[in-house]
Amino acid sequence: MTYLSHLKCRECSRVYPVSATAACEGCWAPLEAVYDYDRLRADLPREAIAQRPPTMWRYRELLPLSSDPSVGANTGFTPLVPAPRLARALGAREVYLKNDAVNFPTLSFKDRVVAVALSKAREFGFDTVGCSSTGNLANAVAAQAARGGFKAFLFVPADLESEKIIGTEIYGATLVRINGNYDQVNRLCSEIAQKYSWGIVNVNLRSYYSEGSKTFGYEVAEQLGWRLPQNIVVPMAGGSLITKIHKAFRELEQLGWVEAQATKFFGAQATGCCPITTAAKRGSPEIEPQKPHTIVKSLAIGNPADGYYAVKTMLGSGGTGEDASDADVVEGIRLLAETEGIFAETAGGVTVAVTRKLIEQGRLNPDESIVLAITGNGLKTIGAVSGVVPSSDAIRPKLAEFEEHYLGLAPAAA
Ligand SMILES: *Cc1c(COP(=O)(O)O)cnc(C)c1O
Ligand SMILES: [Zn+2]
Repeated sequence: MTYLSHLKCRECSRVYPVSATAACEGCWAPLEAVYDYDRLRADLPREAIAQRPPTMWRYRELLPLSSDPSVGANTGFTPLVPAPRLARALGAREVYLKNDAVNFPTLSFKDRVVAVALSKAREFGFDTVGCSSTGNLANAVAAQAARGGFKAFLFVPADLESEKIIGTEIYGATLVRINGNYDQVNRLCSEIAQKYSWGIVNVNLRSYYSEGSKTFGYEVAEQLGWRLPQNIVVPMAGGSLITKIHKAFRELEQLGWVEAQATKFFGAQATGCCPITTAAKRGSPEIEPQKPHTIVKSLAIGNPADGYYAVKTMLGSGGTGEDASDADVVEGIRLLAETEGIFAETAGGVTVAVTRKLIEQGRLNPDESIVLAITGNGLKTIGAVSGVVPSSDAIRPKLAEFEEHYLGLAPAAA
């Protein structure tokens, strides 16, 4: 039942069989999953999708597995919600939030990629899995490895938020904290993948892992009534998600499931780590690596693996990239929470703040439909906002005291 045909180098088009291969042996470019779209179109009408359970697996024919998924059965199909109050605050007409802050089981979009990667790891016969991570990926691999009965090693920069550290270790996985930034962590992981026969989800399983991100795009289209948005704003770390949403939209057009629509892609980063948006602003896909310094740790990748392709996706679509300062990120988290009742992590603050900036600059048309990718949960980055919410003193359990402190009524006479 698989429609996956082979892997293909994105640069030199060399073809590889379906295997756990990190990159093209000839030019080190990423390998892309290729499907038999003609057969898929003939076999699968769009209407069949609607009958299926509300998870990311309703699009299983467009994912690179050869058998049924063995982990992540409940992942995906998160809400796409209209955001009229946020839209008003931004001066926009039609804004939607795709809310992966409530994804199953670890509250970020990374549950999607891990569901695919670990299911593929099982097909390849790995009993040990791992990843390099800025936090959310480690949470997702640890949780789904526990559920799937894998041994797991998670490699992270030592200075991650405690929520993401504890939110990994609780699953019984081995967390390896590294004194170094993500890029150093990732280099170590590549060495480990070469030496040990493990499934490292973002190294030798990367071609499969990254395909999981496409489901974010399929869901947006289906939830809009099989329509593509005119604009989408996506936070970027390695730059994979934005390129895969783009691939998802093109596939839906190719299958004839949506009408062609030239969606403009806008990538968002934190000013303290913005190698991809910097390149986009220069108008060139060549990435100059940076040393991250920002509260937005989930996006803090100074040398992004898919940065080159992310820039091409943005500029090729008529969109662009923009960054937001840490102060604007905190303001963005707050605005989203106060207008729409959604508490996003720092990456969500980046998306909201960048959307506001792009509208103010006249580069994002507020009269067109805009989807914001909310990719992680605010309860995982509490420290980023704990200083800006009011800390109130406790009162005694007395009505008069409540009225005095909170309604401004005069203290009752004793
Ligand atoms: C990993 C991550 C991203 C970006 O993912 P890439 O595919 O690496 O660009 C965005 N938001 C959150 C919360 C993440 O954890
Ligand atoms: Zn190649």
